[in-house]
Amino acid sequence: MQDLVQLAPPLSNGQVAPESGPLVDTLDRIHDNLRISVTDRCNIRCFYCMPEQGGEFTPVSKILTFGEIMRFLSVAISLGIRKVRLTGGEPLLRPALPDLITQISETPGLTDVALTTNAVLLARMAKPLYAAGLRRLNIHLDTLDRERFRQITRRDDLARVLTGIEAALDAGFRSIKLNAVAIRGVTEADVVPLARFARDRNIEIRYIEFMPLDAQHLWSRERVLLADEMIETLSAEFGPLKAVPDPDPRAPATEYDYADGRGRVGFIASVSRPFCLNCNRLRLTADGKLRYCLFAREETDLRALLASEASETELERAIRSTVWKKWAGHQINSPSFAAPNRPMYSIGG
Ligand code: SF4
Repeated sequence: MQDLVQLAPPLSNGQVAPESGPLVDTLDRIHDNLRISVTDRCNIRCFYCMPEQGGEFTPVSKILTFGEIMRFLSVAISLGIRKVRLTGGEPLLRPALPDLITQISETPGLTDVALTTNAVLLARMAKPLYAAGLRRLNIHLDTLDRERFRQITRRDDLARVLTGIEAALDAGFRSIKLNAVAIRGVTEADVVPLARFARDRNIEIRYIEFMPLDAQHLWSRERVLLADEMIETLSAEFGPLKAVPDPDPRAPATEYDYADGRGRVGFIASVSRPFCLNCNRLRLTADGKLRYCLFAREETDLRALLASEASETELERAIRSTVWKKWAGHQINSPSFAAPNRPMYSIGG
């Protein structure tokens, strides 16, 4: 894995974006993976993402309509986007979401459609999502301890999340991954129980290093539970983990098999093992801003273009020039790091 402790700022130095070919940036990274946030609202309040009270939410009138999302997507697919992940806030709060998923699942050119959810509403939504054509779910779950769940999310919804996971398995979802944010001083005691929970259900779990994306700026390096530490903990419990050769070096998680072959575990080590030089991801926020990076400090407002009669060429140019401006990667490890101008819930995972 590249060692990228210090990463340089934007690189385009005045060159103009190519007018044809794949969606590349100045490092020749090809972008084919799109995250679409369908709402910035959420029904829980994770302290490393949202303030307990308040929070700035986009007026509903400024949230992209399904028609605008599909218009953007058809141009993006023509530029090479092949994978789509729906995110939030909490996407299951978006009314009629299965209708959008049906439209996306039936859109030619896509090879993968997935959704990230906190599963609080999944018990009710699993069947309609599956019927709409969705087959891949990432479920956000940091702990199996009711009190710690309440401490982290400021909601007493663990039971609903667990029921939601069972409902997804019953509905037929076979590609389910758990995403657990790992925070020193909070979730160390959850690493092994979550791994056991996932193994028992033949689900892959990915531990995500705590990133500076929270609305209250509580992040510090000392609070990052590192991938290497969790690998040590799991190896002590289940035997030495075996690294899996990277099927796709652009995928954010590094994966390991358990010694007994029962399941796989992944680590998204954005802080200790940045993977930006292989990044193929773009993000469309719920209010129509295109971002070339989770931590970007600039974005392109596409909502006006999408709401107007702008031509496909104009949209294409806007997408290409956004990607062309992409920096080498986040700067979490550099003294000049500055948190993005939006908290996580208004960017989307
Ligand atoms: S931090 Fe930005 S550049 Fe790096 S992998 Fe994530 S989205 Fe890509």
